[in-house]
Amino acid sequence: MTESAELHVLLIEDESSIAKNIAEYMEQKGHIFDFASQGQLGLDLALQAYYDLIILDLNLPVMDGIEVCRQLRKHAERHIPILMLTARDSIEDKVTGFQVGADDYLTKPFSLQELEVRCLALSRRHLLNRKDILTLGPLTIDIKKKTATRDRELLALSAMGFKILTLIAQAYPQVVSRSELSHKLWGDEPTESDALRSHIYQLRAVLDKPFAYPLLQTLHGVGFTLDIVTQGQQPQE
Ligand code: CA
Repeated sequence: MTESAELHVLLIEDESSIAKNIAEYMEQKGHIFDFASQGQLGLDLALQAYYDLIILDLNLPVMDGIEVCRQLRKHAERHIPILMLTARDSIEDKVTGFQVGADDYLTKPFSLQELEVRCLALSRRHLLNRKDILTLGPLTIDIKKKTATRDRELLALSAMGFKILTLIAQAYPQVVSRSELSHKLWGDEPTESDALRSHIYQLRAVLDKPFAYPLLQTLHGVGFTLDIVTQGQQPQE
């Protein structure tokens, strides 16, 4: 990742072995960490100091992660990106987390590499209007120059291919639905139903075909996203 990617992160996590693992990995990557081992202390820190991002465990003593998130959204003056951690892959936890204002979610156990990519993506999402360069793993998009590279190789994208790739990259790690893409590309104008399909096909030919594994992922019935971290392997769990 780029040198400017350094993040100042608050980690609110009561399990010291997990906190230590995260901090050791992320500090090696140049990020700066503050810690809280219980919810109330974490909330106090979050309201006092400036953080690019908060990594918040769901199950915490004194005040749980849901309540910390709720209080933070109520009292903080700006939108601080929050990545929630949970030990269970529970739909209710996710729904509650998003309802109280979490921006993203990771289920334990997760890979530290994935944690870093999610953190960078989340913090970047709030800088988009100020940043012209978007970097996600091997992919770099220069929004001003309208160029994109993968593994430093310039991609010969069409104008439409560039737009589609940028929309999907800007949404990462969220999935972009077909209807959302269509709406952003063509507004409410009716388009041939195969138009998007053919643009996606052409995008794949340039973005993925010459490389070892596909970045562009189709989640059937859901939409499109990028595979930045797993590199063709099965995700953990
Ligand atoms: Ca915990």
